[in-house]
Amino acid sequence: MKEITAVEFEQEVLQGGKVILDFYSSECPPCEAVAPKFEALATLYGKKIKFLKIFRQQNRVLATELGVSSSPTLLFFDAGKQVATSLHGGIKKAEIQERLDKMISAEEVTEIKSNQKSFVTEYDVAILGGGPAGLTAGIYLGQAKINTVLIDPALPGGYMGITHKVSNYPGFTEPQPGFMLAHFMSEQAKGSGIDFKVAVDISSVDLKKKEILIDQLETIRAGKIIIATGTSPNPMNIPGEKEYQGKGISYCATCDAKYYEDKDVVVIGGGNSAVEESLYITKFAKTVTIVHRSDKLRANEIAIENVLSHPKINILFGHQPRSFVRQGEKMMTTIENLKSKEVSTLVSDGVFVFIGLKSNVEVFGESLPEADKWGYLITDEDMKTSMPDVFAIGDITSKKYRQITTAVADGTIAAIAISKEILN
Ligand SMILES: Cc1cc2nc3c(=O)[nH]c(=O)nc-3n(C[C@H](O)[C@H](O)[C@H](O)COP(=O)(O)OP(=O)(O)OC[C@H]3O[C@@H](n4cnc5c(N)ncnc54)[C@H](O)[C@@H]3O)c2cc1C
Repeated sequence: MKEITAVEFEQEVLQGGKVILDFYSSECPPCEAVAPKFEALATLYGKKIKFLKIFRQQNRVLATELGVSSSPTLLFFDAGKQVATSLHGGIKKAEIQERLDKMISAEEVTEIKSNQKSFVTEYDVAILGGGPAGLTAGIYLGQAKINTVLIDPALPGGYMGITHKVSNYPGFTEPQPGFMLAHFMSEQAKGSGIDFKVAVDISSVDLKKKEILIDQLETIRAGKIIIATGTSPNPMNIPGEKEYQGKGISYCATCDAKYYEDKDVVVIGGGNSAVEESLYITKFAKTVTIVHRSDKLRANEIAIENVLSHPKINILFGHQPRSFVRQGEKMMTTIENLKSKEVSTLVSDGVFVFIGLKSNVEVFGESLPEADKWGYLITDEDMKTSMPDVFAIGDITSKKYRQITTAVADGTIAAIAISKEILN
């Protein structure tokens, strides 16, 4: 694996044979989550395909020329031409591997696969998800000396890790950078003695058998499972969204706002996230246009006041985006005025979408505990779900208030309840 700069691009990539190129940034949790997958695959495929990394912040012109507008972005080249679709954001190891397999012969794929052997590991408790809820459960279980593993497809921290500043977590007089809280919570959980399996692909979860398959190789068998998988941003599901995801459409201001220095940005949404993140984006962008379907923002009053009085922020109430198209460097967002039905186009350099969250339950397939009508898991006061030995904590649960403090409280309760069951 090698780090290159734009100057070496011609020789190393265009004349480099089979190449995978990772555009990464600093302060980018998804980039850090991809790094260990990239390294592991370099060990497996390194003799057939060249693994290169390039720092996007210092090679912005090349990134723009190649249409790279979010981090991380993985590009695949063969004989100077881009092959396979590029990958962005929360990238799975299996998605990279699928593309690499297509770049080499069937015999070479078989040879690589034969070097990977499957195995089983046993634990008393497996925690799925390393946000504040999962990390807190980990701290308590580790301190109770219960054999525990914490599994996350990303790096630990959850939303806390990508929140710019957290002002309401008790114990700090000044607002804290979210990534610092995530770092300390994660170190505390590790220090308590639990195992971490992070930045892995979770291939499948069988809640009835209590088996979790990781990276298609390792089967984890646990006596009890704690679900702490949180939520993901809702997509808009309109034309152009999937196509331009990572190429002008982003869901993470912490990751991508820094690339919109002195640029025009559109933010879709009017809830807490849209309001807070718009304020953060103004640190970089020249203008921020918020497109919100209703005629009122739904967020904490101070943040609303700050947005309404901000000189860089313009709000289009009563408008709904209908499609996205890229024209050269610009993103064209078609919006409809919901009252007059008039359709117009917003020209910007990039779009951020913050239109609420959905529960992360897809990985459980059919074997899902009882959930409410929005897909959030129902628990009792010990955080037990309707399935034996399956607990749920944090934002994934059916509840009224979703905050770091409420997630941390859930993690505490589940861990104490489990400790009592195991140790008594
Ligand atoms: C933009 C924004 C700003 C916020 N600001 C604040 C704030 O200032 N103060 C505050 O108190 N709260 C804030 N919140 C809310 C707070 O971040 C959440 O309530 C809290 O992070 C929930 O913790 P959690 O552990 O339940 O879930 P999350 O933080 O969502 O963590 C879930 C974890 O599960 C992992 N995961 C996902 N799928 C799987 C899977 N299949 N298997 C295993 N792991 C999986 C994810 O990678 C993630 O690490 C904010 C939220 C957002 C979106």
